[in-house]
Amino acid sequence: MKDLSIKSWVDYPVNTDFPIQNIPFGTFRTNIGEDVRAGSRIGDWIIDLSEMASLGYFDALEGDISVFFESTLNSFIAQGKEFTQAVRFRIIEVFSIENHDLQYNADHKSRILFSLEEVQMMMPIDIGDYTDFYSSIEHATNVGKMFRDANNALLPNWKHLPVAYHGRSSSIVVSGTPIHRPVGQIRPDDALPPILAPTRLMDFELEMAFIIGKKTALGKHIRVDDAEDYIFGMLIFNDLSARDIQRWEYVPLGPFLSKNFGSIVSPWIVTLEALAPFRVEGPKQEAPILPYLQSSGNRNFDINLEVYLESEGQKQTKISQSNHRYLYWNMAQQLAHHTINGCNINVGDLYASGTISGPSEDSFGSMLELSWGGKKPIILDNGDERCFILDNDTIVIKAFAQNAELRIGFGECITKILPAIYEI
Ligand code: CA
Repeated sequence: MKDLSIKSWVDYPVNTDFPIQNIPFGTFRTNIGEDVRAGSRIGDWIIDLSEMASLGYFDALEGDISVFFESTLNSFIAQGKEFTQAVRFRIIEVFSIENHDLQYNADHKSRILFSLEEVQMMMPIDIGDYTDFYSSIEHATNVGKMFRDANNALLPNWKHLPVAYHGRSSSIVVSGTPIHRPVGQIRPDDALPPILAPTRLMDFELEMAFIIGKKTALGKHIRVDDAEDYIFGMLIFNDLSARDIQRWEYVPLGPFLSKNFGSIVSPWIVTLEALAPFRVEGPKQEAPILPYLQSSGNRNFDINLEVYLESEGQKQTKISQSNHRYLYWNMAQQLAHHTINGCNINVGDLYASGTISGPSEDSFGSMLELSWGGKKPIILDNGDERCFILDNDTIVIKAFAQNAELRIGFGECITKILPAIYEI
């Protein structure tokens, strides 16, 4: 945004993820049990967009502002970027220090602003379809080495198309939702038949995801250079994975029960427009890439990604730091590929990047890679060791873009792993 100089009358720390230049979108309810509605955030304050609508702050906008009273953002973002950006700019205007309307109205402020302690963040989107890509060359190479063949880690198609599978949306939940360790078929001894047991190789996957803001009709495809018109914004995505279940089940159709027992999103969707100052080139793609996948411009984002593990009663240990810029296939290429056959997409669909591993060992985006298949334990700050996630461990993923003038962040994506509940 050109308006780096805009200051807000709301006080916030200099290193907040949510300065006035961010203005993300989410849904929330207050602790006193009111309905779920749309919100935004500035510093450590939640902005109630339904109250802003009720009190007339959006009256000059052309669009349906009753959508802020709905419990998900689907109807809001379905109105298109012209409207959603107008809303975003109007919020920035109302909260800028030059604007006195809300700033000097104590009654309105008490109705519109909530502290973090007063609210519970909710699932922001009713997700229709979910697709998980596999777009980090470092991750695909590492997994290929461990699961298949160290000399031919990447399969022949990998550099020609963004590999993906259709996932399941029913088990995608918002940050803060605990997940029980899944039970499934595993085969710890290749000489014996499989057994049913709680996974022994519980893992996270460090990913980002994007939300579709504009639908297509069946039979139409999206040109790579138009693809970002269809993307409303991004969030953090933790694609929990049970590696022993995955290893046994994934041939030949890919992951199934090893991946659909719980994936976690951060509560705030950050718009592509807010992230624009952080656009960067992606990795150099080796020829030949077919023309429908050839994208121009800077399509990756310089978003720092951090993973922390917190064992019960202990401080968090940072166990990985990666960056969105490492993704080999960018979001525009993913969407162009997804629709080249005429597959239709819908508002509220979620497309995940795949695990974003970097080139160095401390930038790997899963425990599988960090502990190299369980051979090299990760040492926590208190001296404990982990190869995979234990019961009552909490995984926290943070994402933020930052330069000398501006920080735009996503907050946190948190989940605690609880013991298995299936009785065998
Ligand atoms: Ca994944």
